[in-house]
Amino acid sequence: MPITRRQFLAGSTVSLVGLARGRPPAVWLPGRLLQSPTAADKPWYATMRRCGQLNLNERDPLTLDVGSWIDYWASLELNALLLNGGGIVAFYPTDIPYHHKSEFLGSRDLLGELVRAVTERHMRAVARMDCNYAYEDALTAHPEWFERNQDGSPRRHDESPWLFRTCMFGPYFSEQMPAIYREINQRYPVAGFFTNGWPSTGALGVCYCESCQRVFRERVGGVPPADTNATSPLYRKYYDAYMDRVLEVWRQWQGVVTERGRASVYVGNLGGGIRTVKNVRRLGEVAAWFNADHQGRSGDTPIWDCAQQGRVAQAVMDGRTITNVTGSYANSRITWRHVAKPAAEATLWMAQTTASGMVPWFHWLGGAPEDNRWRAVGRDFYRWLAQHEPHFRNRRSIANLAVLYPQRTIAFYKSGEGPGSWRGADRAQTSDYLQGLYYALLDGRFLFDFVHEDALAAETAQRYRALLVPNAAYLDDEHCRRIRDYVGAGGSLLATFETSRYTGWGDARPDFGLADLFGAGAAGETIGPVGNSYMRLEQRHPITAGFEGTALLPGPESRVPIRATGAHAAPLTVVPSYPAFPPEMVFPRTPRTNEPAAVLREVGQSRIAYFPGDVDRSCWRSGSPDLARLLQNTVRWLLGDAPAPVTIAGDGIVEAFAWETEPGYALHVLNYTNPNMTRAFIQRFYPIGAQHVRFAIAPGRRVRAVRALRAGHALTFAQRDTIVEFDIPSVVDYEVVALT
Ligand SMILES: [Zn+2]
Repeated sequence: MPITRRQFLAGSTVSLVGLARGRPPAVWLPGRLLQSPTAADKPWYATMRRCGQLNLNERDPLTLDVGSWIDYWASLELNALLLNGGGIVAFYPTDIPYHHKSEFLGSRDLLGELVRAVTERHMRAVARMDCNYAYEDALTAHPEWFERNQDGSPRRHDESPWLFRTCMFGPYFSEQMPAIYREINQRYPVAGFFTNGWPSTGALGVCYCESCQRVFRERVGGVPPADTNATSPLYRKYYDAYMDRVLEVWRQWQGVVTERGRASVYVGNLGGGIRTVKNVRRLGEVAAWFNADHQGRSGDTPIWDCAQQGRVAQAVMDGRTITNVTGSYANSRITWRHVAKPAAEATLWMAQTTASGMVPWFHWLGGAPEDNRWRAVGRDFYRWLAQHEPHFRNRRSIANLAVLYPQRTIAFYKSGEGPGSWRGADRAQTSDYLQGLYYALLDGRFLFDFVHEDALAAETAQRYRALLVPNAAYLDDEHCRRIRDYVGAGGSLLATFETSRYTGWGDARPDFGLADLFGAGAAGETIGPVGNSYMRLEQRHPITAGFEGTALLPGPESRVPIRATGAHAAPLTVVPSYPAFPPEMVFPRTPRTNEPAAVLREVGQSRIAYFPGDVDRSCWRSGSPDLARLLQNTVRWLLGDAPAPVTIAGDGIVEAFAWETEPGYALHVLNYTNPNMTRAFIQRFYPIGAQHVRFAIAPGRRVRAVRALRAGHALTFAQRDTIVEFDIPSVVDYEVVALT
C-alpha cells in the first residue's frame, strides 16, 4: 500500500510522553509505545546521538547474560540499542510459519528479555532483522519466496549453504516480513526495525524467479539480462524498476511498523561511501532514518572513507537522521569477526562519524566475546560524546564550497571499449575523480559539502560560492540546465574531463552538454590513458601560483581534445605524450601547442574553470603535489574575494567540518597525519602542533567562550566584528572547538 510523502512524514513525527532529555519511560508496555502530542515535533530518532548494536548468533540464547550486557550498553549512555528480532533466525517464540526459531532458544524469549532490560535502563530497543535468507522448509512450502538462477535453481548462501536467498520482488518481502514485524510490534515495545543487508547501495542483482520474470514481461520487456551494464537499454529499464521496488517495499514496511499510530520507524541498510550504484537521492526520499552500514576500511582505502560517507548521506538527508555503524571487530580485507580492530582506528572512525554530522552506532558481533578490548573504546568515546551532547546538535553546515556528487557517473561510467576500459560496476575507478579532488581539498584545508546531482536547486547558489564537478561525465539535460542556472545566479564552477559529455545513461552527445559554460567544445575522441604528457605554463595567473622554477607541470593521464571559443584565459597548454622509454627517445615531438589544458572564464560574477584532462583522477593515482596545488589554486581563484567561513593554518593533514549548532558553533578537526592514513589500520596517533583558526560568525553575535572539548580546556580568543580567532594548541586524534 503506497503512502504519500506527506502521510509518511506525518506518521513519523510522533514522540513519547513525558520524556526528560529524550528518554523513554522506564515502564513495560507490551505492544505499544505511547505517543505525545505535546513532545517536541520530532520523532525520537531525530534527537538520538548515541546508538549501539549487539549482534547475536543462533547459539547465543544458550548462554547470554542479559544483565551484564545491558550494564555495558547502559554505560555508553546509549539512546538506542539494536537487538536481534527475527528474519533468518527468530530470537523469540514466534508463531509465524517458516519463521525459523533459534534451535538454541529453549524456553527463553531472548528478544523479550533484552527489550525489557533495555527499556528499564531508559534506552530504546530497535529490532535488528534479516530479510535476505530463509531455510529449506520455507523453500519447500513457498518456492515463490526465493531468488532463482537462470536454470531455476535456488541460490544458496556461499558460506552457510543451508540458507537460501529470498527475492525482494516476491511475497516474502510483501507478506512474510510484514507478518513478522506485526508480531514483534504486538508483543514488544520496540521503537523501530532495521534490516541487515537490505537494500544496500551496491550493484543490482538479477533474479530469474517467477516474480522477476513477470516484472520483466510487464514492466521492462523481455527477459532478465545476463549482466548489469548501463549500455544495455534493458538494464536501464531494469534499474528504474528495481529502484521503484526498493522504494515500494521501504514505504510498505514504514507503514506496517507505524500501524495504529505507533511511534516506530523502519530503517534500511545503506552506506557504500562514495561508491554507490543505487541512487542514494531516491533512497533518501523514503528514508526517515539513513543508516550507513559503513563499518570500517581495509587495504588501501584512505582513512577519510567514513567522513565521505557522512558527506554523501548529508547530501540526500538534508539534516534528517543519519547513523553510521562502526564495526568494533576487525572487518578488514581478511575478515575476523571475533577480534577487535585497533582502538585508534575505531576511535577515528567514530570521530569522523560525529564530525560529519552522523550519529555513531557501535557494533559488536557475538554474545560471548573472548576479546574484550573493544569495550573501553566505545565507552570512552560515547561518554565523551554524552558529556558534550549539545555541541553535537547541528543546525547546518557553514561551508561555502560545494562538491557535486556525480551519482550516475559513479554508478554507470564506462570508459570506451577494449583494454584499459572498465565497467560501471568497477566503482573504485569511477569514484577516482571525486577521490582526487577530495584529497586536494583536504590538503588545501577547504571546508565543503557534497551536493547530489539530483539535488541541485536555486538554493545551491545561495549557499555555495563555488560548485566543483569532478568528471560528472553522465549528466541529463536537466542536470546541465541546473548547473547553468547555478552559474547564471552568480555561482562559480570547476569542471573536469568528460563532464556532461554523455547523457545520464551514458549515450554520447555530439559535444559537451555544458560546452557553452566551459567556453570549449570537444574536438575529437578522448585520448588516454597515457603517461609522460605535460602542461606548459604559458602565462602567470592565480592558478599557477607557486610554480616558479618550472615551465612544465605533470599532464593528466587522459584528456578530451578541445577547441576553446570566445574570450578566455589559457595559462596552461597541452604538451602531448611522448615516449618515456628508452631514455634516448625521451624528448617532446610536439613541445608546444595552442590547445588549452585549462580554460578560464569570467562571466558576470561567476568564474569558470574547465580542465579537459582528468587532473583530479591523475592527482589521486599519482599523488602529485603539483596537481593537488593546481586544483587548490583553482578553487581559491573561483572563490575570489569571498570571505572564507573558516580558515585553519598549521601543519598536518586534517579534515575539518564547521557547524552552526544549537548552542553556537562547533569546529571539528580530524588529524589524519599518520603513516596509516591510506593503509589500514591506524595504530597510534601522531599529534600535530598549533592550528591557528579564523572563524566567521553571524553579524551581531558575540562569542563568550571558546572551548576545546576533546582536550577539555578553554581557549583564549579574540573577536573583531564577525571574526573569532584562536589557536588550538595541539590535535591528537580529533578536536572539537565549541564557540558559545
Ligand atoms: Zn526474483
